[in-house]
Amino acid sequence: MSQKLIIITGASKGIGLAIARRLLLDNFKVINLDVSSPEKQDTDIEFIKCDVSLESDVLQSFQFIQSKYPEIYGVINNAGIIRDNVIWKMSVEDFEKVINVNLKGTWLVCREAVKIMKQQSFGKIINIASRALLGNPGQTNYSASKAGIVGLSRALALEVGKYNISVNVIAPGLIKTELTDNLPPHVLQKLIDAQPQKNIGKPEDIAEVASFLLNEKTNFINGQVIYVDGGKSIGHVTL
Ligand code: NAP
Repeated sequence: MSQKLIIITGASKGIGLAIARRLLLDNFKVINLDVSSPEKQDTDIEFIKCDVSLESDVLQSFQFIQSKYPEIYGVINNAGIIRDNVIWKMSVEDFEKVINVNLKGTWLVCREAVKIMKQQSFGKIINIASRALLGNPGQTNYSASKAGIVGLSRALALEVGKYNISVNVIAPGLIKTELTDNLPPHVLQKLIDAQPQKNIGKPEDIAEVASFLLNEKTNFINGQVIYVDGGKSIGHVTL
């Protein structure tokens, strides 16, 4: 294989786009499965329109990829959404939408990727969760979906380890993207104030860790959750 193939979901913007661009520097071939077209066309990143929460879209995308490329080196499940509210005001639709995109979407893509990776006897899977998997008020749907991604990833790592496939999770903290730009300014400021270093991360901070995990030198890292959150996962800052 001259250029190793990485499939990443939700890479039309934000963290996914930063990861995709970082992986181009590592000389990977990158395919982006996203429900929305990229705002700026990166000609080197191949775009396939795909709603990861729909089984038919995921199956079609993988069929197309398999018809074009002999092997898949890695998959990054990054597509994710928020629909925040306190539970007593949250609709079932907003609960289901978040679970379907974040958790079911990750599961569907993992399932199709593993079928191929098993045959190759190699593969690297990275699932993007969130520090919110530890719990965030207003995010019962989102926190559940992200904690679910950890359970899925740990179970999957045990299932597929014998096929030389690794599964790891990156749990970003507060990162400046459209997702956080859309938060009310006072909410965003509160979140920054709760950070140990009173700062917000960049999409590139996550991209570096994805690049690290895809490096062949890190093959022995498996079934882990790597927090990239400026230390927020340690706990509350009280001083
Ligand atoms: P973003 O800027 O909103 O980008 C997410 C991308 O995924 C968008 O292009 C979005 O399209 C796409 N997408 C949404 N639903 C999809 C679906 N059903 N199928 C395929 N693509 C879909 O988000 P981000 O901030 O970069 O977040 C990326 C990941 O990091 C998410 O999993 C998020 O939960 C996680 N994360 C983010 C932060 C943060 O602070 N930003 C913190 C922790 C974890 P549309 O724009 O059309 O929806």
